[in-house]
Amino acid sequence: MKICVLPGDGIGVEVIEATLPILQKVQKGFSLEFQTYPAGAQHYKKTGEALPEKTFEAARNADAMLFGAMGWPSIRYPDGTEIAPQLDLRFRLELYAGVRPVRAIPGIPLPLSDPRAKDIDLVVVRESTEGLFASRGKGVVEDDREARDTMVITRKGSERVHEFSFRLAEKRRKKIVTCVDKANVFASMAFFRRIFDEVAARHPGVEARHHYIDATALDLVRRPWDFDVLVTENMFGDIISDQTAALIGGMGMAPSGDIGDAHGLFQPCHGSAPDIAGQGKANPTACILSAAMMLDWLAERSGNPALAQAARRIEKAVDGIFQSQKLKPLEFGGSAGTQAIRDAVLANL
Ligand code: ATP
Repeated sequence: MKICVLPGDGIGVEVIEATLPILQKVQKGFSLEFQTYPAGAQHYKKTGEALPEKTFEAARNADAMLFGAMGWPSIRYPDGTEIAPQLDLRFRLELYAGVRPVRAIPGIPLPLSDPRAKDIDLVVVRESTEGLFASRGKGVVEDDREARDTMVITRKGSERVHEFSFRLAEKRRKKIVTCVDKANVFASMAFFRRIFDEVAARHPGVEARHHYIDATALDLVRRPWDFDVLVTENMFGDIISDQTAALIGGMGMAPSGDIGDAHGLFQPCHGSAPDIAGQGKANPTACILSAAMMLDWLAERSGNPALAQAARRIEKAVDGIFQSQKLKPLEFGGSAGTQAIRDAVLANL
């Protein structure tokens, strides 16, 4: 299987370097061919292109994409926005479901002191092709007086992300999907909820719930262990998935997948982290777990269970190194940097 590797910028490069040897080691009953392509802010600075067409074509033709992180605060487009080829890939390849699972990993210190925090196991599904982000590159500033961005919610976009979320919940233990919206204020959000209810009616085996985004922010701190799958609009999902990553320790622990009907891109939830880039301090766990998500997705698409077995091996190896308390990432005040974590996972496979 061809894997298009897009390391990108900053710690994106470092966490990808730590992940590839792990993917090399678990190949039993399948084989992966890695092809690395340039894209990102530093590439834009050098060439004026953030996502070269050759890179896009390779991404489109690959069986899956493994992505580090892209963007750099001081490198921007003329309109002041940051370089974000990940957004272009989501829109152009219709990667409509931003899947961000969080589960408490034994041994990793949790910010919530309530003992039930160890039961946190939820997935945020962020609609990733429309919503407020549909306005990207199209926002207007009029006469330096007023600025406007428009939220777009379509039937097609909502139906497919809700359908995805219900199918995901069907495979999980709790089987609950919560629609997170602001249906009490915005017509677009009421529409999003109405389509959610229509899709819910087709999945009687899954419990469908509604929650406003503000109440969700509250309850994700007060009782996050009660949630299972949360489906939400693009901008809300952007925000709450950082919050849910914080629930299990931090950005370095949170994997993600951007999934469509034809393509899948897998990347850690974090960005390029310029403050720690180039110092070997990045926690590669999120990227390693994203690679496991990629193997699961490839297993489902290809019907080859060996890929799913490899994903379980990676997850077990990751859990094992933290559970044993032998190693603590720098991110949590410990001394383990990128290489130490990579080596420990490799040794534990
Ligand atoms: P973006 O704005 O694109 O989301 P960013 O790099 O500005 O990206 P985040 O990636 O959200 O910000 O990370 C915020 C901070 O969390 C970073 O500045 C860094 O200190 C820390 N951080 C993020 N990822 C990791 C990681 N893998 N290991 C250790 N620390 C991390």
